[in-house]
Amino acid sequence: MRKKCSKCRKTKDSSNFSRNASNADGHDHYCKNCNRRRMYAYFRTKKGKAAMRRASTKRKK
Ligand SMILES: [Zn+2]
Repeated sequence: MRKKCSKCRKTKDSSNFSRNASNADGHDHYCKNCNRRRMYAYFRTKKGKAAMRRASTKRKK
């Protein structure tokens, strides 16, 4: 199955899209490439950095 990425607008095989059960076709709107770039951009923001810090910091008593 071929699917068009709504981010880069390229038509790719569905294997290039991560699974997303909440979508009608069972795949993400963005291809894996765009998803990775989106995550990377997110982790460069203040909010993303805070989230990453929270995730990597183990809770201490
Ligand atoms: Zn894409």
